Amino acid sequence: MRILTIALVAHDNRKKDLIEWVEFNKGTLANHKLVCTGTTGRMVEAALNQNRRKDNSNIDITLLKSGPLGGDQQLGAMICEGKIDMLFFLWDPMQPQPHDVDVKALLRISSLYNIPTATNRSTADFLISSPLFESDYTPKKKSFSDYLGRSIDL
Ligand code: PGA
Repeated sequence: MRILTIALVAHDNRKKDLIEWVEFNKGTLANHKLVCTGTTGRMVEAALNQNRRKDNSNIDITLLKSGPLGGDQQLGAMICEGKIDMLFFLWDPMQPQPHDVDVKALLRISSLYNIPTATNRSTADFLISSPLFESDYTPKKKSFSDYLGRSIDL
């Protein structure tokens, strides 16, 4: 089974949803590496550590900066570098965010690099329960050679 690096991010009004989802899917997530923006990550860690006492499992989790302090951009950079396999990003469609441009940038980059991305809980359920989730499926990457080789008039 391929070990995935899975990014988890939730805006404040969606953190409860994400934590419930993480707790429900802990058994699956425990087989993979997690990368989270700061506050989301601390909550995920606390939720998983609570359970860890019961079953002694050890989940690899990396905390980035908090989203509004650059965490979304760090994640975007990791996607560009091929370091993230999947993104679960429960963003809040009802509240303006100070880092709206970073949110948009992260969603753009995940789309550009064809990273499986869930932006709401039901899609997160579909993604994690897909037969492809723990298969050897590798998303196709575009080469962007046309773009890179374009001619620019000077
Ligand atoms: P946070 O950031 O996990 O640090 O709250 C999430 C975000 O707002 O992108």
